[in-house]
Amino acid sequence: MAVETTKSSLKLQGVRLTRQRKILLDLIDKSGKHLDAESLYQLARLQDPKLNRVTVYRTLKMLKVGGLVDELDLMHHSGDQHYYETRMKREHAHIICLRCGKVEEFFGEPLLQIRKQVEEMFGFQILLTRTEIGGYCATCQVQRAQELDEAAVGA
Ligand SMILES: [Zn+2]
Ligand SMILES: [Zn+2]
Repeated sequence: MAVETTKSSLKLQGVRLTRQRKILLDLIDKSGKHLDAESLYQLARLQDPKLNRVTVYRTLKMLKVGGLVDELDLMHHSGDQHYYETRMKREHAHIICLRCGKVEEFFGEPLLQIRKQVEEMFGFQILLTRTEIGGYCATCQVQRAQELDEAAVGA
């Protein structure tokens, strides 16, 4: 379904759905993950060995400008990489572990409330929202506590 929606919205914007665009959109749509450009390039190449890096990066940019994918930095938890996900997804916040890089998604009513409140308070027409929450996941909290203990003993 998502691909059909994507196709028609591309058509609306007068963009031709070329083969490499379709490959990338499908990868982004179906992965359910937040893939960076390099991973997308590697996956796309499995489907079309003729694809080169420049084309993939250019296509991603085009999809972003066309409003089909969202580009995220996820708090730069692993450097300067940017991650891509479809815009078809329901609004959600990203919860990023700054230690192990795990990314969780929060789909909650409060996000819609924030949106509504901002629209009302600022008379703002919202086109795009992005919520990121950084911290330590449950596993990393335990590991961090152990590391801090060990450091204290070592000192
Ligand atoms: Zn973690
Ligand atoms: Zn997401």
